[in-house]
Amino acid sequence: MTKEWVAIGTVLVLLASNFFGLIYSMLVLKTKIFKSFRIQTKSYDSAIFRKRMPLFIFNFLILLSVAGFGSYLLYESLETAMQPIWLIGSQILFAFIIDDIWFYFFHRWLHENKFMLKNVHSIHHRATTPFPLEYLYAHPLEWMLGMIGVVIAFALILLVMPISVYALWGFGLLRNLHEIHIHSDLELPILSKLPFFSKTKHHDDHHAKLTGNYASTFNWMDKIFKSTFKE
Ligand SMILES: [Zn+2]
Ligand SMILES: [Zn+2]
Repeated sequence: MTKEWVAIGTVLVLLASNFFGLIYSMLVLKTKIFKSFRIQTKSYDSAIFRKRMPLFIFNFLILLSVAGFGSYLLYESLETAMQPIWLIGSQILFAFIIDDIWFYFFHRWLHENKFMLKNVHSIHHRATTPFPLEYLYAHPLEWMLGMIGVVIAFALILLVMPISVYALWGFGLLRNLHEIHIHSDLELPILSKLPFFSKTKHHDDHHAKLTGNYASTFNWMDKIFKSTFKE
């Protein structure tokens, strides 16, 4: 596999997961298919998708460029041959854990620092009743700083072994799908039973109440640091 194919694969993973997010958002906003699974009862502003679009596109282009060029530059440190599934799975799980630890402290700081809350994080919190693609709706500075956890996670893996390109793609795909899911305002029966991963309600409550539940992928950081939102 050449450098170019690694970058193309990364871009395709991001295009596919965000295309899914686009279709999912349209179904949530424009149809009644998922209505019975909604967590909140507030209806959506009919122009909401159009209003969000410019920042969606801007942040998506940042994501494509950073991830595409990042994987291209990382080529020498990647293992492109197929490795055992347990090894690929372990790298993905490790990346999720490190990324979530970073996100917890970063996100909590965005709330506790009044300047950052007012000038940066308030943009993401314009969504009090989120819909799937609103995971992309954040101040570009927040969006880029949020990626640092992923960089730390893969740098730590690299200290011990080469990074599997399939772990990189698998992590990118699952992280995006999970972010889309936790912003959906939907508690779908199957997805809510996934072990380890936080339910939609965990992050949905954070958007609705603007306090507590700072972790994203898992909820144990909020349990350890006693920041779980209580009704
Ligand atoms: Zn927040
Ligand atoms: Zn959010």
